[in-house]
Amino acid sequence: RTKSIGFIGLGRMGSEMAYNLFSKRFTEAVDSHFVVCDAVSDAAKSFKEKFYHQFPGANLEIVESPQDVVLSSQTVITMLPSTPQVETVYRQHKGIIPTLKSLPSADGTLLMDSTTLDVEAARSVAEDVIETGADMVDAPVSGGVPGAKAGTLSFLVGGTSTAFGHSRPLLELMGNRIIHCGGSGAGLGAKICNNLVLGVQQIVVAEGMLLGQKLGLDPAVLAAVINSSTGACWSSSVNNPVPRALNNKSPPCERDYEGGFATALMLKDMGLATNVAKTMGSPVPLGGAAEKLYAHVLAEDPQLIRKDFSSVYRYLARCSEE
Ligand code: NAD
Repeated sequence: RTKSIGFIGLGRMGSEMAYNLFSKRFTEAVDSHFVVCDAVSDAAKSFKEKFYHQFPGANLEIVESPQDVVLSSQTVITMLPSTPQVETVYRQHKGIIPTLKSLPSADGTLLMDSTTLDVEAARSVAEDVIETGADMVDAPVSGGVPGAKAGTLSFLVGGTSTAFGHSRPLLELMGNRIIHCGGSGAGLGAKICNNLVLGVQQIVVAEGMLLGQKLGLDPAVLAAVINSSTGACWSSSVNNPVPRALNNKSPPCERDYEGGFATALMLKDMGLATNVAKTMGSPVPLGGAAEKLYAHVLAEDPQLIRKDFSSVYRYLARCSEE
C-alpha cells in the first residue's frame, strides 16, 4: 500500500475539508497521491474537477468502494451523514473493517471519522477497527460549512493519546482548534452534549425575543439587554433569530435563514443526544421537548429543512399569528 490519503464522503463538509487537507499536503510536498470515494459519483467528479483546476500536477484517484480506499491509503478520513452510513462504510462486504482484516497487517493505518453519529455505534466501530491492528479516532467537528471552507473547524477528538498524536497534524490542516476530549467516543460525546445545549438555547432565545416584541420592545433593544445580562449566549449574541436585532452582524435570519446550520441536522443531533441520554439514564426533559419541537417544525414547514435552525423563531412567530 502507498502512503496516500483517502477521503470518503465529499458532501457539503467533506468536500471543503478534503480540499484543504489535500491542497496543503500537496503544496508542502508531503503527499501527491490522494484517493476519494462517494456514493454519489457526481460528488467525487466535481471535487476532482475543482481540485485539478487548482493543482493539475496532483494525482487524485476516484475509487468505487471503501475497500479500494483502504487498499491504497494508510490514512482514511470519513465524513458521512450519520450512523447508518458509517455502519455501511465500515462494516459492509467491501467496507473498511473487512478490508483491514484481509490485510497481512493493518498496523500503521489510521482511521478518522468526523461524522456526527451515535456514540455507542461509533465506539463499537472503533473497537472493531482497533482489533484489526489499525488505529481510530472519532473527530466530529464544529464550525459548519464556512469553518470547513476556511480551514477553521474545531475538532473534538476521542481516542488514545497515540492515535490523537497521529491525527493531530492532519486535523490541523482542516481546523484551528483540536481538542483531545478523552478515549474512544469522547469527541462525539462532547459534540452531542454541546449541541443538546445549543438546540435548547436557540428555542428559548426565539421565545424570549418573540415575547419581548409582543410586549412592545424593540428587538435591537431587547437583544442588547439580553446580551449584556445573564441570558446572554451564542444564540442571542451571534445567531439571534430576529432580523435587525443585532447591529453590525449578519446572522442567517438576515438572509432568510440561509447558510447556517440546517434544522434537519439539529433535529438529528437532538435525537442522538436524547437517545444516548436514555441509554445512560440521564434525564433530558428540555432536550426531549426541544427535539419534539424541531420535529414538529419540519413536519409543519418542510421548507425549513435546509434553513438554519434559528428559523424556529419564524415558526413560533407564525403560530402566534394564527
Ligand atoms: P452531506 O449529506 O452534505 O454529505 C455526506 C456525503 O456522504 C454525501 O456526499 C453522500 O453522498 C456521502 N455518502 C453517503 N453515504 C455514503 C456511502 N455509503 N459511501 C460513500 N459516501 C457516502 O453532509 P454534511 O453536511 O457534509 O455533513 C456531514 C457530517 O458532518 C454529518 O454527520 C453532520 O451532522 C456533520 N456536521 C455538519 C455540519 C454542517 O453545517 N453541514 C456542521 C457540523 C457537523
